[in-house]
Amino acid sequence: MKIGLFIKYEVVDSSFEEKVSNVICSFGHEIDNLNPEYVFVFGGDGTFLKSVQKYIEHISSIKFVCFNKGKVGFFSSFVEEDLNDVLSKLNSLELKVNSYRLLESKIGEETLYSVNETRIENPFHTLLAEVYIDGIYLETFRGNGLVVSTSLGSTAYNKSLSGACVSKEIEAIQLNEIAPINNCLYTSLKNPLVLPSNSHIVFKGDFSNIVIGYDHLVKSDFNGKEIEFFLSDKVINVVNKSDDNYIKKLKETFIDRR
Ligand code: NAP
Ligand code: MN
Repeated sequence: MKIGLFIKYEVVDSSFEEKVSNVICSFGHEIDNLNPEYVFVFGGDGTFLKSVQKYIEHISSIKFVCFNKGKVGFFSSFVEEDLNDVLSKLNSLELKVNSYRLLESKIGEETLYSVNETRIENPFHTLLAEVYIDGIYLETFRGNGLVVSTSLGSTAYNKSLSGACVSKEIEAIQLNEIAPINNCLYTSLKNPLVLPSNSHIVFKGDFSNIVIGYDHLVKSDFNGKEIEFFLSDKVINVVNKSDDNYIKKLKETFIDRR
């Protein structure tokens, strides 16, 4: 198999890449960072998010294997000690692979893809946006921003906004508010809204002063008046441990590691 390596160099020593490459080759696989069939990610969730953007052009044909290196690692099913076991199973299709649709955001001519969420925020003035769901006008939001999350991303920024943690087995889109103003002039839903996977969310407004955050990336030069969000046909394929369990992961990540 052709394996790409995506490493957070700050958390490993200088011989790490060579050491891992040697182990990979000793199993008869080869390192190919240009056209990999598998990408092995060593780091945390942020490292995984970056690796997805690197390979976004042919994302759906790649399988990601995430090894946690001392970070939160919500996406990581493995640790370094699992490397040999994973390598020995690559050819036999014994590994459990799950596919998750990315969030697609249409901003003018441009399309952004995110694993966790896309959010719009106005750092200069309160954000004013009309919100439409499947063509139906819901509200005019006024506040700091709006966040559209995937189920995978529901435990990231969305969770800090008291959004629901949505099991990754449920394909859904969640809309959440950042510091909504609710007074006699402006009213919004206030609670997180979880929608079915085929939903289309549209924000309309004057967006000349907003920043658009998508996963770890930011865009601040958008001048359009409409942004559309939906779950993409592009997917990420993630290798999970055979005993991978969402509730166990939630507990380990947010409650305790025992
Ligand atoms: P970061 O500032 O290191 O990320 C914040 C934390 O979120 C890190 O501990 C990261 O884990 C963790 N994380 C990322 N995705 C997660 C997920 N799906 N479930 C649970 N935890 C997750 O920046 P980053 O690592 O580049 O991640 C970018 C993400 O940060 C964005 O997509 C956004 O969701 C999140 N963010 C959160 C806030 C907030 O909560 N107020 C504000 C801005 C951005 P690792 O330590 O393993 O990297
Ligand atoms: Mn991080």
